[in-house]
Parts: sequence; structure tokens; C-alpha cells
Amino acid sequence: MKDNRLYQPSYLKEILNKFEFTFSKALGQNFLIDGNIIRKIVKESNISKDDTVLEIGPGFGTLTEELALNAKKVIAVEKDSRLMEVLEFTLRDFNNIKIINNDILKENIKNIKEEFSPDRKLKVVANLPYYITTPIIEYLIENKEYIDSITVMVQEEVARRIVATKDNKDYGSLSLYIDYNSDASIIAKAPKNIFMPSPKVDSAVVILKLKNKEFNVDENLLFELIHSGFTKRRKNILNSLTTGFANIEKERLKQVLEELNISSNLRAENLSLNDYINIANKIKYD
Ligand code: SAM
Repeated sequence: MKDNRLYQPSYLKEILNKFEFTFSKALGQNFLIDGNIIRKIVKESNISKDDTVLEIGPGFGTLTEELALNAKKVIAVEKDSRLMEVLEFTLRDFNNIKIINNDILKENIKNIKEEFSPDRKLKVVANLPYYITTPIIEYLIENKEYIDSITVMVQEEVARRIVATKDNKDYGSLSLYIDYNSDASIIAKAPKNIFMPSPKVDSAVVILKLKNKEFNVDENLLFELIHSGFTKRRKNILNSLTTGFANIEKERLKQVLEELNISSNLRAENLSLNDYINIANKIKYD
């Protein structure tokens, strides 16, 4: 194995000089310089030699290298075209990595899965660019039929919102959207100093294991209710759920809540995903 492991700051600096590379703030370029966290991300993602991994934003290829050592194949999608020659150099010893120069939000995930991993769903692993964390996670979840799990480094504050449960101050529409689609947990905290350059905030790694099971509910109505509730999060649910996107009559909602034994004095943050599903189903079907 090479001794020039990419995460070593001295090697990173060497590459910066060799390619006269400057970090782009606009592209969220904060590269990892800590071998322990890289190994932990890959281990917790349960990558085996049968897996094809989709990596978003390989940067200099630090995480890509560890992924390639453990997976069958790594497909790495990088938006910054300046990094193409760098990656060709840093990952030259590997024959199981494919780099695609594109914006991940413009990539067709179904095609990637069908071309590179026809028999098995993809595992997504990434140290995400923070300026588009939520759009990327949403895009991946929209493609969940092709994806087994998503392991991503995000800002710590976003990680807390992702895993929050009811009655918690971080609980909101994002928590419910994630809960609806996956089982989520935080697997590691990451202080600012393990990145070069250091970002302004601490980070954390979350893993989302995508759920196969479909809930029996009108999804549009469910998320309209949730968004209404959290847009007016200080009001009680009788007021917040009837003044927002869902547009439900107060008398009707009052009756539904009574039938479900849910107090109308609660706020959006006091209801679980199941509560929202029950409310949506009663409105729709009873
Ligand atoms: N994986 C590397 C590491 O951990 O050292 C770099 C991570 S850095 C936080 C984010 C990477 O995502 C950068 O390389 C950046 O150029 C790339 N990136 C930014 N926006 C992107 C997009 N829309 N699609 C694909 N890659 C993107």
C-alpha cells in the first residue's frame, strides 16, 4: 500500500503546490485531513467488495481512496473541473474508480445504478459541500429505489435536525421527512480542525438507512400538514394546521383530533410522524 496517504496535511500541501490549486469557497471545498474519521465513515457504511459506492465531491480523492480499497467500484461525481487532473494523479494506482465531472443534482442516479451496479443498490458516501446539503439529501431520497444507504458529513446543526425526535428544539419538517424515508443516526462528530481549510462550524457524520416500506398515506397531504405546522410552529396545531398549505376547516380538524385523542393545544413539534400520518388518513378517508 502507498505510504503517501492522501489525508496527510503535508501531502495535501504538496498536491496544492503541484497543481497550483486554490480552494473554492463557493463550492464548499473543505477537505478532510484526518485518517481516523475517513476509516470510521467507510467502516460504519458497511462497505464490502460487492458494493458499488457513489461518492459526491471527491475533492483530492482522500475519502475516495479509502472507499476504493474496500468497495468493488467507486463512482465519484465532482463538479469542479479543475480537480479532474488532480484526481487522475492522486488516484492513479486504482482501477476501480470512475470520476464523472458533473453537478450531482444533474446526474441521473438510475442510470448510474443500472450501468455500474445492476444487481445491487448503490451506497452513497460523501463529505458534502455545505452550501447544498439539503438539496443533495432530498435529491438522493427522491432516488431511494436505487440507493441502500447514505452516509454523509454535514454541519452538526443539520445533523441534529436530521435525527431529532418530537419535543426536541431541533425537530422540524426535515426530521419528519428523514424519518418518513429512513432510519437515521449520527455516527461521529467532526471538529473544525480535521478539515483544510477549517470551516466555521463543527460537523457530524450521519447515516440514513433507507426504508423500503411504503406508508399507506397521501404523501402530499402529509407533508402539507407538516409544513403548515412548522411554518407557524408557535401556534397550537388547531390554528397552525388550518392556516397553512393544507387548507383544512377548523371544525373538521377539531373533530379529527378528538377522534385520535390528540390535544388541539399541542404544537407541531409535539407530534410524531405517526400522529401526522393518522391525521392525514382521517382527513382523507373518514
Ligand atoms: N471528499 C473530499 C474530502 O472529504 O476531502 C472533498 C469534500 S468537500 C467538503 C466537497 C466537494 O464537493 C468539493 O470537492 C466540491 O468541489 C464538490 N462539489 C461542490 N458542489 C458539488 C456538486 N453540486 N456536485 C458535485 N460535487 C460538488
